[in-house]
Amino acid sequence: MLLSPFDNDEFAEIRESVRRLCATFPGEYWRKLDEKREYPTTFVKALTDAGYLSVLIPEEFGGSGLGLSAAAAVLETIQAEGCNGGACHAQMYIMGTILRHGSDAQKRQYLPKIASGELRLQAFGVTEPTSGTDTTALRTFARREGDDFVVNGQKIWTSRAEHSDLMLLLARTTPREKVKKKTDGLSTLIVDMRDVVGKSLTIRPIRTMKNHATTEIFFDNMRVPATNLLGDEGKGFKYILSGMNAERVLIAAECIGDAKWFIRKAVDYANQREVFGRKIGANQGIQFPIARAYAQMRAAELMVKEAARLYEKGKDIGAEANMAKMLAADASWEAANVCLQTHGGFGFAEEYDIERKLRETKLYQVAPISTNLILSYLAEHVLGLPRSY
Ligand SMILES: Cc1cc2nc3c(=O)[nH]c(=O)nc-3n(C[C@H](O)[C@H](O)[C@H](O)COP(=O)(O)OP(=O)(O)OC[C@H]3O[C@@H](n4cnc5c(N)ncnc54)[C@H](O)[C@@H]3O)c2cc1C
Repeated sequence: MLLSPFDNDEFAEIRESVRRLCATFPGEYWRKLDEKREYPTTFVKALTDAGYLSVLIPEEFGGSGLGLSAAAAVLETIQAEGCNGGACHAQMYIMGTILRHGSDAQKRQYLPKIASGELRLQAFGVTEPTSGTDTTALRTFARREGDDFVVNGQKIWTSRAEHSDLMLLLARTTPREKVKKKTDGLSTLIVDMRDVVGKSLTIRPIRTMKNHATTEIFFDNMRVPATNLLGDEGKGFKYILSGMNAERVLIAAECIGDAKWFIRKAVDYANQREVFGRKIGANQGIQFPIARAYAQMRAAELMVKEAARLYEKGKDIGAEANMAKMLAADASWEAANVCLQTHGGFGFAEEYDIERKLRETKLYQVAPISTNLILSYLAEHVLGLPRSY
């Protein structure tokens, strides 16, 4: 069953080889990890070795130098095959911040090693417990002292920190009351966690409803060489924002992959399960919700492709990236519900993988940006309604 029948795009080969790789990581692999909340190290290594996590890194730094659409095709396929790219997707978009705003020396130092897998860049420290979505209210402070920054504070939901060598950190370098605009005075640092973990950096895992290796992090006079500052001091918020559109498109592509997985699973089951002497799929009460979920997925998929296309043309895709993320997350959540409903009681059994995938895809209504904040972006920036916060 071809869920996107016209998807004979230029990435058909990539999709096929990602599919082959994913086939070696079946549901049983993910179920075992989910139970113990363990990280899919073997899967991430296989993706890294095959070069999929470095598709966006330019060839001169050891990557394949492809565009956002190729990266989206990789992540979508991973999800559509029942695997979980959430374990490693951040590397693709965090790397972009170094690529766009790093110095030549930083790019040469980090990008080839990230491409080869020698260095893992999976951790992104922005959210804090007290500031939440209001990023500019974050309190982690990096004070300049000689050739170093000395960092104190706390982050929350820093995913994959235990499985990463580097972290991209957003911290205040000028107090909020001393800057003209609250978005000023924030800086972006590359933290080599190998030097400081267990000393001035403490990582505490948070167990959540899904296997996401997320953590809270505490900085206690953590020293970061000033040479690890990305771009200009005080302009970090802008640098982080510049990566967010790509991040939203990639996460949206993952949601499309999830929706496809749920729809395929629902159709297969509806075609074989017999109750009252006939296939349940013969009932319109079963068919219509699946058909509706399919139509929603296809519509969201168009927006994801459009956002990626415009991004590659260098356009500002704030609105498209946000809409793609919201529509795709809604489509995957709707497909998850329909898939579970189609399976009746069996949908709740772990061995069907539906309840696990449903827990996994729910995240995307909240992170990396929640639906409310997307709607308020559209209301304010596209429709010209008053700012609501
Ligand atoms: C599993 C997981 C992994 C994550 N990984 C990372 C990571 O690697 N790095 C990182 O930095 N962060 C990460 N996050 C954080 C994530 O980006 C935030 O949880 C998300 O942005 C929402 O912030 P919050 O949880 O503080 O919610 P809050 O800001 O406290 O908001 C709570 C609710 O109120 C709503 N709300 C808030 N303000 C408004 C408003 N003005 N109008 C309407 N509604 C509003 C929100 O939409 C939300 O529904 C992760 C989160 C989770 C759960």
